[in-house]
Amino acid sequence: MKLIRQRDVIREVVDAFARSFAQHMDNVDIFPDKETPRAKLGRLMALDLETCKAAAVDAIVGNQSWTTVECDECTMENRSMHPRLDVVAEFQRGEKSVRVCGGCMASALKAVR
Ligand SMILES: [Zn+2]
Repeated sequence: MKLIRQRDVIREVVDAFARSFAQHMDNVDIFPDKETPRAKLGRLMALDLETCKAAAVDAIVGNQSWTTVECDECTMENRSMHPRLDVVAEFQRGEKSVRVCGGCMASALKAVR
C-alpha cells in the first residue's frame, strides 16, 4: 500500500494524458479551445511536474480532473459525502491497482466488524 497525494497525481499527468489521447493526438474537436492533445501534451511536458502548481496543469487541460486526487470507490457523482481529497491509499497487485479514501475505508471497516 502506498499513499497518493496531489503531487503524485501531477507526476502521472504526462503519461496518463499521452495514454488517454494516443489515438487522437491531432484531433482538434476534443477540447473546446480546439487545441490538439499533441499540443497540450507538449505544454504539459514543458512543466516541471515536481514543482508546478496544479493550476498550471488545469489551465492547459481545461479542467481539474487531471490534478484531482480520486477515490475509486466514491466517484465524483457521490463525492458530496466526502470532502475534496488530499490523500488516498493505493493498493496494487500486479497490473491492477485501486485507490481508496479514508472515508470509504472507515465505512468498510464499520461494515466488516
Ligand atoms: Zn472514497
